[in-house]
Amino acid sequence: MCRFVFALNCLLALLYPVTASAWGYQGHKVVGSIADKLLKPNAKEQVRQILGPNLDLRRVAPWADCVRSVVRHDNGTYEYVANPEHLDYEVPCTPFKSDAERAAMVDYVSRNWTTCTYQPDPNRPPQGCLNLFHFENIAIQRDRYEQGYRGTNERDLVAAIGAAIAVLADKPPSPLFSFKDKREALFLLAHFIGDLHQPLHVGTVYLDDDGKLVDPDKANPYDPKTETAGANAIQDQNLNLHHEWDDIPTDIGEASTRELLAAARKVPASQGPMESWPAAWATESLLVARDAFAGLSFKFNPPEPPDTRRQWFVSFDDHTAYLWQADLIKRKQLARGGARLAEILNTIWP
Ligand SMILES: [Zn+2]
Repeated sequence: MCRFVFALNCLLALLYPVTASAWGYQGHKVVGSIADKLLKPNAKEQVRQILGPNLDLRRVAPWADCVRSVVRHDNGTYEYVANPEHLDYEVPCTPFKSDAERAAMVDYVSRNWTTCTYQPDPNRPPQGCLNLFHFENIAIQRDRYEQGYRGTNERDLVAAIGAAIAVLADKPPSPLFSFKDKREALFLLAHFIGDLHQPLHVGTVYLDDDGKLVDPDKANPYDPKTETAGANAIQDQNLNLHHEWDDIPTDIGEASTRELLAAARKVPASQGPMESWPAAWATESLLVARDAFAGLSFKFNPPEPPDTRRQWFVSFDDHTAYLWQADLIKRKQLARGGARLAEILNTIWP
């Protein structure tokens, strides 16, 4: 019992005072790092040839977030601008700070900016399509990923993973994405497989002004005001709920651990053709997201002025139990992500 209490206190000490450390890079690096260790010889050699001697999956996995520093000017030009208020965003991007690498990021963004009709967050100005590649916003009432459900779109996370796989496997490229070569596709795949295993990048809640769950696929008409943008609009104390799920347990650090690697080796092989795997993994993450929203209730915080960003507050039936559960889920999902990234590459290059 004492050992249990001690472990709990340690865990809570690790979880509570977290400074923002997003799946945005630590988690992505961990997923890439697990995959680096699970590649079979041929896949490892192919990855080495594509990335060169100085990069590996761990280092390239954050790249798709590094490109968020590329801004589009009003005259239609693009530029890499490090945010002076968030120089921390640059930390995982140091392998890409040369002029050539920044030019490659600007090039990627300009090719994939295309304006989208689907805008998940009605409170924000329209964004480039490439922001959609990172997530689904499927209601947790659904029991599977299926294109056409609210929160999916033709340029969603599952579609983006499929497009990256096509480039790597020498299949016909999707016309909806512009992934110019295997290097870029590998950068993106390493990142998106991580995103797919963060449950709140797939499943979410839609809420009304009483803080009650609504079903966006059955609502007639659908009310965009019920959108929580993947729980980004749900606030806990200092962070929003989405961000709390982006954080990984701090004891893991930025690379695979022995425990995670052992768990990854036990992840069952995926069934059916490789092209069907991303949707199946999205279904799995959607069901995991149900657990991430279990035991929560929400209270609407009316915005002032009324047309500004809408927000809800979260409360927990049992906060300690919730944090325990979240910690376990995150470790399991990181292991799955690493295993699946390696599984795809080992399948493309057997
Ligand atoms: Zn992402």
